[in-house]
Amino acid sequence: MPLVHMKDMLNHAHEHHYAVGAFDLVSLDFLEGILAAAERCRGPVILSLAESHFGYFDFELLISAVEAAARRASVPVAIHLDHGANLKSAVSAINRGCNGVMVDASDQPFDENLRLTREVVTVAHSCGVPVEGELGYVPGVEGEDAERHPGEIAYTTVGEAKTYVEKTGVDFLAVSIGTVHGRLRGEPKLDYRRLQQINEALGIPLVVHGGTGLSDDQFRHLIANGVAKINYYTALADAAAAMIRENARENRNGGYTGLVRGVQDAVAEEADPCMRLWGSAGRATEVLAECAPWLPVELLIVYNVAGLDAAGVQAMMAEGRRVLGVIPGVRQVATGEAVTAGADYRYSWLARFCHPAVIDSYRDHPAHVAFAGQHFRPVAGDRLTIDYQEIEAGNQNRRGIA
Ligand SMILES: [Zn+2]
Repeated sequence: MPLVHMKDMLNHAHEHHYAVGAFDLVSLDFLEGILAAAERCRGPVILSLAESHFGYFDFELLISAVEAAARRASVPVAIHLDHGANLKSAVSAINRGCNGVMVDASDQPFDENLRLTREVVTVAHSCGVPVEGELGYVPGVEGEDAERHPGEIAYTTVGEAKTYVEKTGVDFLAVSIGTVHGRLRGEPKLDYRRLQQINEALGIPLVVHGGTGLSDDQFRHLIANGVAKINYYTALADAAAAMIRENARENRNGGYTGLVRGVQDAVAEEADPCMRLWGSAGRATEVLAECAPWLPVELLIVYNVAGLDAAGVQAMMAEGRRVLGVIPGVRQVATGEAVTAGADYRYSWLARFCHPAVIDSYRDHPAHVAFAGQHFRPVAGDRLTIDYQEIEAGNQNRRGIA
């Protein structure tokens, strides 16, 4: 069950004046290191995948591992798409297992940012998934120096933030108040007054990108003024790289496993003090008790077919898998045929939805309406349809709560 609603998780943090770390991960070593730190700290954590990193790993493969790790964790976890470019990115992330998405149209003019973000919010909410928007410009790209992606910081203004949140319906807002992505030269000057005003005007969890390099005191001020999610990557990547360099120096003939030895621990060592400083450490039990679990729903249909031959049934199923599998919130569509010849119902559909909200949005989706009306219902009059919500998914594999 440790997958929980990210909205509940961040609202809890916002109300109780602490922040949850959203750590971008780029490999299994990062995943295991971040989760090891969260388990050790007994804190909620956000496992974050940044679209700008998708060239370094296969998103579909890595997120399967992220989901498996989250389900066997004993601390509350959310899985987030960081800096999604557009609606397509958001839907792909949701259908592959993210239960929070960020849409970053902050490089667009205000009205266009509004329109693009609103579009993502409508679809994501129809899947039960909360959305993080961004307003203003935080220079740089995850893990790369802001110097390489220059541009003036564009500070988020209170008035625009209010309009943006009202018009788009975003659940969390990433603000630009003086941080930059990547490594920083010199001390960043953070505009706490502006942050405080935004927090008072919006009352929703705020997000800071570019957490690397801030002082303990700066983090405390950010959290005291409504920041409930802190994106953190560069320092983890630096710690991992330092470990690899040390391995290379000490063991010149070592192979790959010799080079990456200790990387997990280095990542955990970097994430651990963040969780303690930001106040998420020790909150796992109350978050699990107070936040809704993130549980999928399965739509099961068993049916008999009249008026189609075997090839026709195969073609109908293939069409269904093709058009229904890409509806937002649909994790999987599986079709089956009874193993025993005399079964009461010969065929089955199993559609797996990320969240109960998808029961309605799937039923009303034009692709489903068209397929059901033209291809399925006319030949499958004899059928049973039932939606099931998973009970404590993956609980049997869960590590004992320490
Ligand atoms: Zn960012």
